[in-house]
Amino acid sequence: MPSIPLTKERFMERVEFELNTGCWLWSGAPGSGGYGTAVHNGKNAKAHRVAWFLFRGWMPPPEIKACHKCDTPACVNPDHLFLGTQADNVADMIAKGRLRTARRCGTKNPMASLSEKQVWEIRHLLMMGKWSQAEIARSYGVSPMTISRISNCETWQHVHLNWPYHPHPLYGIQEMIRDAA
Ligand SMILES: [Zn+2]
Repeated sequence: MPSIPLTKERFMERVEFELNTGCWLWSGAPGSGGYGTAVHNGKNAKAHRVAWFLFRGWMPPPEIKACHKCDTPACVNPDHLFLGTQADNVADMIAKGRLRTARRCGTKNPMASLSEKQVWEIRHLLMMGKWSQAEIARSYGVSPMTISRISNCETWQHVHLNWPYHPHPLYGIQEMIRDAA
């Protein structure tokens, strides 16, 4: 039997509003770590991630965490969520050298040696402040100057910390249209 897709309305039936903080507290099934559980595509998922899906229109890939600005795991208010990489995952990736991915050309500038996704990762790494620009440069196989320019927003200004989420599902389409024009 096909499962009935969860609508915003049905989702909101399981929300209690916390008027002081603006949090939407999940009153549906609880999950581990204080997060709520909701069904997404026939599978249990964290309720706040499902909220992101319902209200933002796309589900973040598993490696992207939906984090709480309000530090309330049970909160499913999409406005209280931001997406980020898991610091441990990134640290782990650096340790294992997985970030030394094949250098490929950027979408628009043939001289660019980093992809937008890599620049976005670099911005997060810089923000975490755990690694020097030289270490990050080594990890990505680029010069420290390249990292410095990203850090100072001299280059890649459009790839800000929230970059992939904002226009996400349409992003590729917009790029395709632009490239085809
Ligand atoms: Zn909240």
